[in-house]
Amino acid sequence: MTFSLAIVGRPNVGKSTLFNRLVGKRLALVDDQPGVTRDLREGEGKLGDLRFTVIDTAGLEEATDESLQGRMRKLTERAVDMADVCLFMIDARVGVTPTDEVFAEILRKRSAHVILAANKGEGSAADAGVIEAYSLGLGEPIRLSAEHGEGLPELYSALMPLA
Ligand code: GDP
Ligand code: MG
Repeated sequence: MTFSLAIVGRPNVGKSTLFNRLVGKRLALVDDQPGVTRDLREGEGKLGDLRFTVIDTAGLEEATDESLQGRMRKLTERAVDMADVCLFMIDARVGVTPTDEVFAEILRKRSAHVILAANKGEGSAADAGVIEAYSLGLGEPIRLSAEHGEGLPELYSALMPLA
């Protein structure tokens, strides 16, 4: 038995960085500039002895005529329908933004199985943002640093029951 995990969240929070870390191949582009990766990308994820499908959502980085909220809704609903669980990522150094709150609302309304991750969690600059993440009403956040590989044991613990 395996499962699928979709990584969702607003642009630039570190979704593709985590995808690349889990998949181990550079299947998704990572860049400082929003707009590099597009739509959905799938790879075989590996974390300890767990094997699963990872879906990186990137469609929001594209500039289109459609509103950001409309695209967020569509893309997130697609990810929720495709995946067994969504990892909803925020940037802990920035804290909770209005866009993050819209995502949280979509996920709650869709009754998605959500793992909340506060990324860029390395260092004390992330402390306040990690605490703010509780206000999203999606449970206890996992403090992650996708770039530095921190918080992976906690992510493992959250994913293990799904295997
Ligand atoms: P995405 O748009 O959500 O896919 O975000 P990306 O993975 O492309 O990352 C956006 C930027 O955040 C890049 O410059 C990454 O190097 C950086 N980043 C990703 N994870 C971390 C992290 O854990 N800590 C810090 N400080 N930067 C990160
Ligand atoms: Mg990306």
